[in-house]
Amino acid sequence: MLINGFRGMGMAVKEITTKIYTCDGCEKEVNEGELTMAVKCPVKFMTEQTEGRPTTPYIQYATFDLCERCLDRALVFSGTGAQGYNNYRFRK
Ligand SMILES: [Zn+2]
Repeated sequence: MLINGFRGMGMAVKEITTKIYTCDGCEKEVNEGELTMAVKCPVKFMTEQTEGRPTTPYIQYATFDLCERCLDRALVFSGTGAQGYNNYRFRK
């Protein structure tokens, strides 16, 4: 998630616009370039989304901007492949 912030320079008139990026996973502020943007992850929902009532669990994809640490936790499969033959394994 990108938040545009203003950081003043003391009493100086000049203001510097800084872009503050926050990880959607851990909500930490990180520098530009330290987030992997728009990662689609499967999310296990435990409620329906109209009234928020408990329901049979279901999977829905959501999009997150993630820091490296959270990306590592969110992605559970790794893949290798060539010529249309891919192998998927749980990441170690
Ligand atoms: Zn994070």
